[in-house]
Amino acid sequence: MSRAMIIGAGGVARVCAYKCVENSEVFSHLMIASRTKSKCDQLKSELDGRGTEIETAQVDADNVPELVELINQYKPEIVINLALPYQDLSIMDACLEAGVNYLDTANYEPLDTAKFEYKWQWAYRDRFRDAGLTAILGSGFDPGVTGVYSAYALKHEFDEIHEIDILDCNGGDHGYPFATNFNPEINIREVTAKGRYWVEGEFIETEPLEIKRSYYFEEVGERDMYLLYHEELESLAENITGIKKMRFFMTFGESYLTHLKCLENVGMTSIEPIEFEGQQIVPLQFLKAVLPDPATLGPRTNGKTNIGCIFKGVKDGKEKTYRLYNISDHQEAYKETGAQAVSYTTGVPAMIGASLVLQGQWRKAGVYNVEELDPDPFMAGMNKFGLEYIEDRDPALVP
Ligand code: NDP
Repeated sequence: MSRAMIIGAGGVARVCAYKCVENSEVFSHLMIASRTKSKCDQLKSELDGRGTEIETAQVDADNVPELVELINQYKPEIVINLALPYQDLSIMDACLEAGVNYLDTANYEPLDTAKFEYKWQWAYRDRFRDAGLTAILGSGFDPGVTGVYSAYALKHEFDEIHEIDILDCNGGDHGYPFATNFNPEINIREVTAKGRYWVEGEFIETEPLEIKRSYYFEEVGERDMYLLYHEELESLAENITGIKKMRFFMTFGESYLTHLKCLENVGMTSIEPIEFEGQQIVPLQFLKAVLPDPATLGPRTNGKTNIGCIFKGVKDGKEKTYRLYNISDHQEAYKETGAQAVSYTTGVPAMIGASLVLQGQWRKAGVYNVEELDPDPFMAGMNKFGLEYIEDRDPALVP
């Protein structure tokens, strides 16, 4: 029996709320608070009567005193931050002030610089530790499950892991020539940034989408994928001792890339504010406003995601390879929760991470990335709550 508060009411929050209610033995009371209260009320109307007592509220998560007041009034044991990466620090500040635990799925980004770095959130380590509170960073799929897979592989399959390739394939088709499967602003900032991968203790930088490979993804098919920088590379480089090489690849279709290149060429993906008819506007935020809302893609998205990690390392003196991955179906996710698989594969791990903090297995004073905690109860939770993992002991490797 515990009280939790979700902040945000987008696709990921929707799935997380559905999954908290499915796990109502742990989540007996849930507050859903976000900028637009009607979205929280909509979720409550869908989920009432299923065993979890739900309340809703309007909150501006950039405003720390407002957050503190709401948290003190509701008294949750954990705040699950499913708003945007820009709100991470204000929500962490509010959790410290109100004395509650914290969990998120994406690392902090300042609004005016497209930069993924954990340094801002790692700077909270002493404050959470001294307050006896837990903060879990990046409990989505990637980051999130990819870190848990890495910790699990290191615990059960390897003495040392030397290489990790994280492969994120979304084989879904929504029928639009161009749309993003989650928040367009966050998605486009990620894809248009320079690539980076880890080799022998340092990051090597590439031009955006410079390195291309193809891979056969089960239940999706052969797909082109591109090397990106992704935030879990930074924490895994610290936490997986002995790691020598790490890369992150994401698949993109031709149509997506052609549109993106064109939008980039005309300046629509820029985050530099410009003057327009007497007002300051950010081109990327304007683009977001004209693109389809990811929340509306659910009913029209068909196909599957296939996301996971390939590990190379040593066990009992012998070299070995091993792959862990998950396949999720967009339509099945939509039927169950009203959101497609990209939100589903993020919202389920957010619920599992929060439930482990509430139940004590992941309750540890300080700020942690998921791979620093015991992967076993999390892996068991994934099989129970719809993100079954698949093991491959002879995986194809990426050149
Ligand atoms: P959405 O844009 O669909 O939802 C974000 C929600 O946060 C919206 O309901 C929005 O309100 C609310 N919000 C935004 N700003 C504020 C604010 N200042 N105060 C209160 N509420 C606010 O995003 P998603 O659901 O797709 O993504 C949620 C998070 O999950 C993001 O941080 C994203 O980066 C992360 N993510 C992580 C993944 C992973 O694998 N680790 C994968 C995909 C996403 P409103 O409804 O009014 O717009």
